[in-house]
Amino acid sequence: MAVIHIDDSKPFPYFPAEPNNKRETFADFCKRQAMGLNLVSDEMEQEKREQAEMQELMKKSCERKYVLFYDNLDLILRHRDEIRGTPRYANIDAHYLIRGGGLYVGPFATTKMFNFAGTLVNINLKLYSLLEIWDNAQFKAECKCGGTAVIRSFSGSPLSGCSQATAICPTCKKEIRVKNRSFGGYYGLLRIMMDKDIETVSRKIVANWTFAEVNYNKKVTEGNDAKWNKAGSELHGDGEPCNLETMINELKMKEFQTQIEAGEVNPNA
Ligand SMILES: [Zn+2]
Repeated sequence: MAVIHIDDSKPFPYFPAEPNNKRETFADFCKRQAMGLNLVSDEMEQEKREQAEMQELMKKSCERKYVLFYDNLDLILRHRDEIRGTPRYANIDAHYLIRGGGLYVGPFATTKMFNFAGTLVNINLKLYSLLEIWDNAQFKAECKCGGTAVIRSFSGSPLSGCSQATAICPTCKKEIRVKNRSFGGYYGLLRIMMDKDIETVSRKIVANWTFAEVNYNKKVTEGNDAKWNKAGSELHGDGEPCNLETMINELKMKEFQTQIEAGEVNPNA
């Protein structure tokens, strides 16, 4: 007697995840093939490849910035209060500077993409938040050299609460391993700070839009011709953002200037 063996260990064949996707009949399949119409078109594949290339470039850029940031960690920590008090520094993207995650919960997303009416808005963990995180004992570790290292990656389990982490010392630039701290302590704080950054950006957009509407209505009330524009033309962002490279250069220049003023450096030498 023949035994029918059903192998359900393999995934089902791929069908595009569309709400109204139906398995097409063989007749429909033949008609579609005759028309040269693919379920996934060459143009769709091209778009996918280009997006992947851009992602790859972004990844390389983040890797370079990561090295630059940690090479200058001592400089950055010396100016931590100034950075937090200067919005163009405080708002710098810091999502690639800390990594965390665990069993069951997966890697923690320090960057989130939102689709608003087909427009993509990316919200990242801000430098301000990373510096706030590092102010907590949970994210600090004593280094053998006497310096205070900061945690830049952690992993663990929310069930057992166990964790392991790596910290980098701003003084000797060595990486040290930190064990057996509360996993929830890491994950929870990172999550709170990321949620705060999402709130900051969202509130900023709402506030700027409210301001744009007020300005527009004022112009209309004043009798200005509002026929050819709407409140949208009154919406403004926060101006040119600062990048990590510029901030580091500005901080270095500032320290250099201070040294000259203190007579520690002779610029003519
Ligand atoms: Zn050290």
